Amino acid sequence: MKPLKILIATPEAIPFAKTGGLADVTGALPKVLNRLGCEVRIIMPLYRHVQEGNFNLKDTGIKVSLQIGFREVSASVFEGEANGITAYFLKRDEYYDRKYLYTMPEGDYFDNAERFIVFSRAVIEAIKKLNFKPDIIHCHDWQTGLISTFLKTIYKNDPFFADTKTLFTIHNIAYQGQFPKSHFQLTGLPPDIFTPDGVEFWGNMNLLKAGIVFSDIVTTVSEKYSKEIQTPEFGYGLEGVLQAKKENLFGVLNGVDYDDWSPEKDKFIIAKYDYKDLNGKAKCRQDLLKEYNLNLPDDAPVIGIISRLADQKGFDILSQAMEELMGMNLGMVVLGTGERKYHELFEGLAKKYPKKFGVKITFDNKIAHKIEAGSDMFLMPSKYEPCGLNQIYSLKYGTIPIVRATGGLDDTIQDYDAKTGAGNGFKFKEYSAQILLAKVKEAIKVFSNKREWKRLVQNAMQQDFSWERSAKRYVELYERLCR
Ligand code: ADP
Repeated sequence: MKPLKILIATPEAIPFAKTGGLADVTGALPKVLNRLGCEVRIIMPLYRHVQEGNFNLKDTGIKVSLQIGFREVSASVFEGEANGITAYFLKRDEYYDRKYLYTMPEGDYFDNAERFIVFSRAVIEAIKKLNFKPDIIHCHDWQTGLISTFLKTIYKNDPFFADTKTLFTIHNIAYQGQFPKSHFQLTGLPPDIFTPDGVEFWGNMNLLKAGIVFSDIVTTVSEKYSKEIQTPEFGYGLEGVLQAKKENLFGVLNGVDYDDWSPEKDKFIIAKYDYKDLNGKAKCRQDLLKEYNLNLPDDAPVIGIISRLADQKGFDILSQAMEELMGMNLGMVVLGTGERKYHELFEGLAKKYPKKFGVKITFDNKIAHKIEAGSDMFLMPSKYEPCGLNQIYSLKYGTIPIVRATGGLDDTIQDYDAKTGAGNGFKFKEYSAQILLAKVKEAIKVFSNKREWKRLVQNAMQQDFSWERSAKRYVELYERLCR
């Protein structure tokens, strides 16, 4: 059989550019698909960050030219490589040569609609010129939502795409790429798709909705979340559209790239370790406390947090719980960027409790690794969580997750049962500060029993969430589309 040809179209991917879990997925998945026999390439915008990185990119000499509203816009195609995977980059400095990917501290870039309309259209034109004819274009999030829309309309009779199908993955339904109707004319799409059955959403253009409606298959990043988003509580207004798509909507849990995220191989941590020998973990804890300038007794657990500082991640209930938490025998380290109110909250706490609370308001991969290895527990009290990666990374590092039962957190963490020893973390249901506090207390109690805690840690570390299983599921879905 001929290998499946897959094009991953994404607004971000490691090692090139990352704002969140999406980049981890689009960086790791292609490697595994490749091992499973697919021919995979990725395509993304050429951001400033990528131009300034040492990625040894080459100009392919290919240029695409697009009609965007009344303007002719061109973009050049660059080529690079990471982990044996060819990556294409669309270069148009007017749009992508900027400090941030989508959002500045003051808010979103005003022309995000245009930036990603151009990207989506340019992807299609670029692969034609590159003569890479994919069986599947696997699109990710609203920034790529129009790719399937273009294919099903403007390119409907284009023989080049006669056998190309689309799969669209939603990483977080709260981010929809909604823009005023006036932007629709930039797309060049037929006006008859600006309807509630098409790309229209309460009078606006909605790019995530476009991706859902026009793609052949839609997936999201955990089984639980695929069900949740079909309800008003989690669907952010798109629950009806998703219910209508339900026959072609699937949950595929994200995997972990253990080359990057395991204490046996981690190049950022001071001492490596595995489940048989945890001595290195104690050294990593010391190193983390030093990094954050904390002074904690050995019997106090360190709780780590690495997160976008947004309401989604549960920081409203956590802020209500903080004073009481600081009264307990524990320490806390936070790494994150996001909403100003949380910057202020955490900086205030660090001043008030300098020995036991530390915060770094920055995006720093190395420190993220140090927190995974050096913490005893990892806290994710999310209001909703499509998949969540850090709780899965934490398991591998023997850093026991304390999570709220939602989305991928619910699918990956089983609440610890002291009687049977079953479970890999601590999980609570009700979204409230009181219940969160009760769960943390329960975790601290288990922590105080060294033997019991060690057994829990060793169990967690032996769990396997590698990409193979999830990538095979994607291949099944790709094959189903090609049949
Ligand atoms: P989301 O994509 O919703 O932000 P995920 O848990 O799916 O959440 O993925 C977050 C990813 O981003 C993880 O790899 C995490 O380690 C990383 N991350 C988040 N904030 C930071 C930060 N401030 N510094 C370094 N890495 C971060």
